[in-house]
Amino acid sequence: MQTMCTTKRINSKYIDTGTTWLIDHCLLIDENGKIEKVCSQAEANALNRQYEVEEELNFPHSLLMPGCVNTHSHAFQVLLRPTTGQPQHFQDWVDRFLYPLVLELDEDSLYASALLVFSQMLKQGITCVGEFFYLHNLPDGASSRQRNVKAVLQAARDLGMRISLIRALYDQGEKEGQRRFKEPWEQAIEQTRQLAQQYESHPLISVLPAPHSLHGASAELIQAAAALAQELDTPWHIHLAEQKHDLELAQSLYGTTPVGALEKLGVLDHRTVLVHAIWLSEADKDLVAQKQVGIAYNPITNMALGDGVADLPGWVKRRVSVGLGTDANIETNLFAEARTAEYLQRVQSLSMGCVPAARSLYRMLHLQGGKLLGLPIGELKVGMEADFQIVDLEHPSLLPAAFAADVETAVLNQLIFSAWPESALQAVFVGGELVVSKGQLVQVREESVREEIRRILA
Ligand SMILES: [Zn+2]
Repeated sequence: MQTMCTTKRINSKYIDTGTTWLIDHCLLIDENGKIEKVCSQAEANALNRQYEVEEELNFPHSLLMPGCVNTHSHAFQVLLRPTTGQPQHFQDWVDRFLYPLVLELDEDSLYASALLVFSQMLKQGITCVGEFFYLHNLPDGASSRQRNVKAVLQAARDLGMRISLIRALYDQGEKEGQRRFKEPWEQAIEQTRQLAQQYESHPLISVLPAPHSLHGASAELIQAAAALAQELDTPWHIHLAEQKHDLELAQSLYGTTPVGALEKLGVLDHRTVLVHAIWLSEADKDLVAQKQVGIAYNPITNMALGDGVADLPGWVKRRVSVGLGTDANIETNLFAEARTAEYLQRVQSLSMGCVPAARSLYRMLHLQGGKLLGLPIGELKVGMEADFQIVDLEHPSLLPAAFAADVETAVLNQLIFSAWPESALQAVFVGGELVVSKGQLVQVREESVREEIRRILA
């Protein structure tokens, strides 16, 4: 009999693949960190001689599920947490808090803030972060020559976390803070292409282009970014229709709605991911569905910044792929984002069950997020990356779901609708490697996260 090589076997009472609930199954992970097989433990025992299992782990009271995929984050904004309660409105937040902060940031503070916020994400089951990064320049406006972006990538590498670097392209704006972002559009495209090529074969880093917004990116830049996404075979992201004011802006720049502006530029297709997409007409929502555009939705940040409430039931009804994001990183928990998404609908519509069944919300945590980042993640099946989390269903915070008659429905509901602490998370794996164990980081010392923050604020 031919011997196949498998490095790890993980047994769990329950496995949810992202689409299917399994009992007494296991994951077999190959030496490249990909899923080789998902099968019953009895089948794996029978196949035992075909596999060289170097390590076998048992989780007899647990649920093993895909790692959460965070489709939209700005890591450095974690430094704004202490001021979250003070601004008067969105523009006040940008002018009085966000821009003064960006003028001060350097490589050390970019690294320290990313290490802080990525480590918190990892400890709450987020295995991949879509980091929308736009701070490309030095304080005087000269290019950092990729040094800033590399500081952020280094934080993810140190933690063993997967990162999709959503490389923002920004060529407009005259405010002082904007000199940290603004580049001639040809330079923005070229640096994005170089970065993508540099990490083409990296196991944990990928790069995709993102014209920042209708106010930050010119028409030429939006079109060039969409073309670059096609060249690189990736999705491309853009902030769109976050604030009501964005309707007036699109009207003044393009004489139409925000979605209409992208359609006018000829760039709207299955590669496009709209970040927020709150202020859309019914006709624009139909167009988004028809063109198979995705949505990166950030309900907690939208709530904190007074942006508005997206039409989530409308997206689900139209079968649009919606992923979730932590955006300003006021919190770093996608289960909380999913819960908030549904509760915002309840408050607005004065009814309940606005998004049908917990599984619709559950799919937004990982399966659909993986699609929006164009990566083989978010679902546990053969050939996908072995990015997953294991939750102790007998942790008091997750009882009584584990003992319910319909355990699948009970557990999915409870995971989303009741808050549970980091201590219920037994393990997190990225690319088959252990990165969090019993609520503690494995690859970075917990103290060093605190020390880095203390150092930059000293
Ligand atoms: Zn954003």
